Amino acid sequence: MSLHRLEVVRSHLTAGRLPKPALDPSLDQYRSKGAEFDPSILHRLIDDVTFEYDTANYKAMERTGAFDHFKYLDQSRENLREIFVKQIAVIKECLPLDADDDHENPIKSFSFAKMLSTFDQGLFARHTVNSSLYGDTVHALGTAKHSELRNRCLLYKDYGCFGLTELGHGTNGAGIETRADYDHEKRGFVLNTPSYLGAKWWIGAAGKTANIAAIFAQLYVGGVNQGIQVFAVPIRDYETHQSLPGVILGDCGPKIGLEGIDNGFIYFTNYRVPYDCMLDRFSQIDAAGKFHSKIKNKTKRFSAMLGGLLRGRTGVLMSSCANLRNALTIAIRCSAVRRQFGKPGKPERPILDYPLQRYRILPHLANVFAISFALDEMIKNFKSARQAVHLNPESIESEETHAILSFLKPLSSTYAQNGITALREACGGLAFSAYSYFGQLKSNHDANVTWEGDNNVLVQQTARFLLKNLQRLTKGQKLQAKTLYFLRLDFGEIQKQRAAFETKAALRDSPEELKKMLIHRINWLMHYSVLKLQENVGNYPDVVEAWNHSQVHHLRELALAYGELYLADIFLTRLAKVQPQCMKTHAILMRLFELYVLGIVERDLGTFRESEYLSAAQGRYIKEYVRDLTWELGESAVRIVDAIAYPDFVVGSALGHSDGQVYQRLLDAIESARGVYDTPPWFPLLKQLRPS
Ligand SMILES: Cc1cc2nc3c(=O)[nH]c(=O)nc-3n(C[C@H](O)[C@H](O)[C@H](O)COP(=O)(O)OP(=O)(O)OC[C@H]3O[C@@H](n4cnc5c(N)ncnc54)[C@H](O)[C@@H]3O)c2cc1C
Repeated sequence: MSLHRLEVVRSHLTAGRLPKPALDPSLDQYRSKGAEFDPSILHRLIDDVTFEYDTANYKAMERTGAFDHFKYLDQSRENLREIFVKQIAVIKECLPLDADDDHENPIKSFSFAKMLSTFDQGLFARHTVNSSLYGDTVHALGTAKHSELRNRCLLYKDYGCFGLTELGHGTNGAGIETRADYDHEKRGFVLNTPSYLGAKWWIGAAGKTANIAAIFAQLYVGGVNQGIQVFAVPIRDYETHQSLPGVILGDCGPKIGLEGIDNGFIYFTNYRVPYDCMLDRFSQIDAAGKFHSKIKNKTKRFSAMLGGLLRGRTGVLMSSCANLRNALTIAIRCSAVRRQFGKPGKPERPILDYPLQRYRILPHLANVFAISFALDEMIKNFKSARQAVHLNPESIESEETHAILSFLKPLSSTYAQNGITALREACGGLAFSAYSYFGQLKSNHDANVTWEGDNNVLVQQTARFLLKNLQRLTKGQKLQAKTLYFLRLDFGEIQKQRAAFETKAALRDSPEELKKMLIHRINWLMHYSVLKLQENVGNYPDVVEAWNHSQVHHLRELALAYGELYLADIFLTRLAKVQPQCMKTHAILMRLFELYVLGIVERDLGTFRESEYLSAAQGRYIKEYVRDLTWELGESAVRIVDAIAYPDFVVGSALGHSDGQVYQRLLDAIESARGVYDTPPWFPLLKQLRPS
């Protein structure tokens, strides 16, 4: 028997020393109140497209017995990495995925990835660096001769990694230094890292795991720079796992989260690879040694190469939904059980009874519905979007998909980042225990705002898309992008727009009126941003400077406003879907929709007052109605999260278990831990501290 197991047995023998309280804390009180609705409809709606796969996957995952959060809380970095690989092996065994599945039915692979992301963001990332980042890059940029590489990756015969970022360059990927010089005589390339700033950095799985990498490098043919190309190159010996001659691999060291992934660095020194390593769908070097590309412009070509990130960015949206949903499950259940203050002689009140607590929690519930519906839509359309990007990365459809992901990734990851922090705080000190699982949610989610394109830089691509289409409209062209139906040219008309509602009551059950507010905001920000940009073009030496000085309060807000309107639109389609099924469920969802939209308006009241769309009195009605909504939804909050919560073993929190045994579970976990009642071996030091 291992030392740890002995410790656990000993702890159990001494556990349960404390007597139980008279009032057994439970979720019953909250489960017996609030509005009526059909939980199965709500559950189906939020996970619609992957629903059947999800249900089967979670059952299979639980049956393996290999997924238990509490077991892995105190593990070292190395152990955690090993555990994740073991878990992937276990889950792959019972839920096999092959290359055809991924191609023909990406919904199945999304459900698989979703299962991992809901359980642990680190486990999910361990899987996606290979299957999405590396695999999709090979698929998007390679040709027929590379299809075997993709199959090998999906079957885990190879473990791939994605090497774009360098120590010196991240968001400006075009500035990377790694170079690949074409050697015509040997019909191959020589890879070199000119300085440590050019070392590939942060590369997930490069530190210890991957045997192959998709490397982004500056291609030189006959000494002339031909822009960035991607090369699928072996980096470790397949049998010995040693780095190959000419390749130096190392670990980027401890991080502030996601310790289960071995982010690493890669240096190349005169590393020779054959011609076929180049992923040559867009560009080739002919038999005479001449470079050709079907996308002549280097910048456009580089942008097209990032099309492989389609699934990676959808993955950030997916894990943001999962992390926020788990945080809400924990916070709402904990707040319904935890009691503080009360009338003399009466039991104390659950903290969820306090209007302030509901106001802090419920807007995040509305947000999670909004982003989850968008995720569902992305997954549903993924196959056709991937095909469109593959066929023509410069088509309007590809442009629009890219613009949508460029706001969905930032919006969802920011909603989740803010939500997880607010919800942790809303649960007080109990949530500071690692057994709450808030710590892992916070530290593991953090990278989502940075990787796959830093949020603040990525939304600039959405802003560019909006301006480009406004320009098309100005030239009298018809807009083909479906999500831009709202764009108006007449600024004078927009300036005159005013909200029509005159009472708080008028805000209820008027989804189209609420949507009009978001449409007004985006058109107003659009014109306001164009004016700022024009002014800055006159004030600054070049367009780039003018662009940079037009971000704050203008282009960034514009891009995010477009994103929030898009989310509201998808929410409305889900409302319409529920209406014929169940009016009571429709009513609950309508309140969530209202809270989503009015929460945005409340946060951005300054813009609506500046444009004079809302009067001071209307602003007050909105604030009042938001308070009403959080109060009303708070009554049903436990049953709403019951409807949408992931299984208990997935949530993995003492505070968020469906049985509501917050204290008992916390104590059980603490008393089962190693050394809980031990005298520390360092106690003699305390004696040394004492004055002699
Ligand atoms: C855990 C982790 C795993 C990763 N895994 C991989 C991987 O597998 N493969 C890979 O290639 N990369 C990976 N990355 C790298 C990741 O993609 C980059 O961190 C990301 O692209 C941001 O680049 P950067 O860190 O260099 O930030 P920088 O580019 O240095 O940006 C720093 C800050 O400056 C701001 N900024 C930069 N430019 C502008 C501008 N024009 N306007 C306004 N603000 C600006 C940004 O908003 C940001 O806040 C990983 C990163 C992390 C943290």
